[in-house]
Amino acid sequence: MRHDEGNLILGTKKFQEKTKRWKVTLLQKKFIHDNFVDKKKLDLKKKITLNRNCPNCKKSKNFLLFSKDFFKYKKCEKCSLVYVSPVLKENEIIKMYKILHILILGENPIYKLNISLSS
Ligand SMILES: [Zn+2]
Repeated sequence: MRHDEGNLILGTKKFQEKTKRWKVTLLQKKFIHDNFVDKKKLDLKKKITLNRNCPNCKKSKNFLLFSKDFFKYKKCEKCSLVYVSPVLKENEIIKMYKILHILILGENPIYKLNISLSS
């Protein structure tokens, strides 16, 4: 069973209780706020994000639909796909999940990782 399917099979409430996914969500939000947000601009730091074109039709023309937790949801003017842009750079996402993994599951010798946060 894939993670995203668990929500559908168990229902959101049971899925959250069983997996404690809500803990990850809360920690992730805090982590993003503490590390990735420019507190003066109240926006994601430019150097850790990438602007992207529509993942479906590759066009760049879009308009802002709404923002949630510092992420901007854009709607493609050509194909109407709603997608997030800018997104976090891949290395930043990997760093975040390595740290969240340790915060949630604890330090485990099998998963010893070298982590340093760029400021
Ligand atoms: Zn498109």
